[in-house]
Amino acid sequence: MTLPRIVPVRAFADNYIWVIRDHRHAAVVDPGDASPILDYLRHEKLQLAAILNTHHHRDHVGGNEMLLREFPVPVYGPATEAIPTVTHPLRECAGRESDEGVVYLREFTLSFRVLDIPGHTAGHIAYYGGNMLFCGDTLFACGCGRLFEGTPGQMVASLQKLADLPKDTEVYCGHEYTLNNIRFARTVEPGNQELLEREKAVEALAKQHVPTLPSTIGLEKATNPFLRCGEPEVISSASAKMNKPLNDPVSVFAALRDWKNRF
Ligand code: ZN
Ligand code: FE
Repeated sequence: MTLPRIVPVRAFADNYIWVIRDHRHAAVVDPGDASPILDYLRHEKLQLAAILNTHHHRDHVGGNEMLLREFPVPVYGPATEAIPTVTHPLRECAGRESDEGVVYLREFTLSFRVLDIPGHTAGHIAYYGGNMLFCGDTLFACGCGRLFEGTPGQMVASLQKLADLPKDTEVYCGHEYTLNNIRFARTVEPGNQELLEREKAVEALAKQHVPTLPSTIGLEKATNPFLRCGEPEVISSASAKMNKPLNDPVSVFAALRDWKNRF
């Protein structure tokens, strides 16, 4: 039994479709477009084994139908979002034994725990297992998703849930936004030395068009302003931007999110 490898397949302008694969099988996370995945599977001579969706946005589920025509596989997705192709609706089952809270991929002897992380969308879920986190559009490298359906309070709680995972957890996000996110983070926290180092490393990767992902929870906690709403420099930058003292993490987060939307 070989451990599965994780491979990024690019789609649209900046989406990543993550492929979990061994030498025969593949599972895909958030196939917004089927054709780059079908090309990859053909080229690598792989059988599709499962589709995992994190949320209902078209750029994450748009390829489900076409993939299913060729490979009638199980489709895992959030129980509370309308994704017609989902066959296995999921939700977090903290403390309870339930099939709805776990995904077991037999081909890779790999299981994921489902985490509810509302904010970007109301029913957004993440998959955590094998030291990996697939978090869609909730946590990005040095950033976070926009609040389309949730409140700042929900997003802060969701991000905290992810930040509480082990530091060495590999973070697989839905988009390549890292360089742009770092520009913003540097504006918020110019005194963060680790962030400065990360900027240099990411600039080098971006120049070679190499993916900047996966990240790790530890790196995000050290450099992602949206996970650092209690840090003095983040609080003072957000307060200065809003022209009023902000003293709780949710207000700081809301100010940062708003600032980033217009950055
Ligand atoms: Zn989205
Ligand atoms: Fe997206």
